[in-house]
Amino acid sequence: MPQIAGLTSAETVELFRRYVIGNYNRYPVNLVRGEGSHVWDSEGNRYLDLFPGWGCNLLGHCPPHVVRAVQEQVATLIHVPNTWHMDVQGEWAKLLSERSFGGQAFFCNSGTEANEAAIKLARLHGKGKYKIITFTGGFHGRTLGSLTATAQPKYHEGLGPLMAGFSYAPHGDLAAVAKLIDEETCAIMVEPIQGEGGIRLPPPGFLQGLRKLADDHKLLLIFDEVQTGCGRTGEWFGYQHYGVTPDIMTLAKALCGGIAGGAMLTTPQIAPSLRPGTHAATFGGNPIAARAGIASIEMIEQEGLLDSAKQLGQIFERRFRKLQKECDLVTDVRVVGTMVGLELAVDGTPVVKGCLDRKLLINCTHSTVIRLLPAMNLPEDQAEEGCDILAEVIKSLPRQ
Ligand SMILES: *Cc1c(COP(=O)(O)O)cnc(C)c1O
Repeated sequence: MPQIAGLTSAETVELFRRYVIGNYNRYPVNLVRGEGSHVWDSEGNRYLDLFPGWGCNLLGHCPPHVVRAVQEQVATLIHVPNTWHMDVQGEWAKLLSERSFGGQAFFCNSGTEANEAAIKLARLHGKGKYKIITFTGGFHGRTLGSLTATAQPKYHEGLGPLMAGFSYAPHGDLAAVAKLIDEETCAIMVEPIQGEGGIRLPPPGFLQGLRKLADDHKLLLIFDEVQTGCGRTGEWFGYQHYGVTPDIMTLAKALCGGIAGGAMLTTPQIAPSLRPGTHAATFGGNPIAARAGIASIEMIEQEGLLDSAKQLGQIFERRFRKLQKECDLVTDVRVVGTMVGLELAVDGTPVVKGCLDRKLLINCTHSTVIRLLPAMNLPEDQAEEGCDILAEVIKSLPRQ
């Protein structure tokens, strides 16, 4: 038996240097345990985590209700193929359908896979129409279809030729979308709120305008809710803030309370275009993911966490508006529930480092946007504590 775990951070860094491909920038810290919004490293340091699991741990680390459900499921039935029915997968689909637009689900394991399913469904449903319009600053994943949908040149470098049939409009620009639509267009794909792009909110009327363009030209409207979905914004799904319903919605990240899982939902009218033989995912909708997904929904409802997310949003909004008044390095504050963006006039990398030194975990995206994706059940005193540290770090940044 090889010895597992029990290593120091330095020993773990060395293992990675030798045996793990270096495609991530990693902190030289070995995390070994998590509970709520705290994680511990192998040296016993405790960190306050306002970016738990890169957005996946929306219910905090090791949410007890999800842990119990998974423990029970893993000892009962781990995996069976999708050539069988599984009551847990059916029940999970029902819960998601009832909380969204009454559609049907296809299950997979990640965000990029959910978007690949959406792209294939849009093309199959388009019956020969194949072009999809997406938006600058968007992020849809790393496999080649989703990557092509991601209108950010830095992620495309060295990987061409990419997929044919995608065109990009500036985010928020309805006139540009209208110009890109032609006889071969089948869909428009957008995040209701851009996440990786820097917590960018849709300009007023933008999503409504996309809905109208889609209806007028018989296109499918695809919302990538991988980051905005599953309660993150204080509604079940981001689109519910805007009164605009998509034809296809994709989910992952927080969908299963930290367990890997993804889903694509569409209306019962469109769903039949994904006929047997057109698409599949071996692990998609497996009993463990399904139980974790069900348990996540139950926990959010039993603990009133949609309201908690809204209240947390108000705390972050208040604290960061105040900070913006006090500190001219903060140029914008964008908060929807537990999606929090703080735009800086300077590079945010030293802020992330300064917070790490003070045992606070945050993220910086697009060089200048401090991004927090805290758990919905983050206690309010921990939210205030995180804001205190972040404010202190930003105020102490060296001035040019
Ligand atoms: C993270 C993310 C993805 C990709 O999800 P993976 O699970 O990493 O494949 C896609 N879309 C959005 C909006 C995301 O935030």
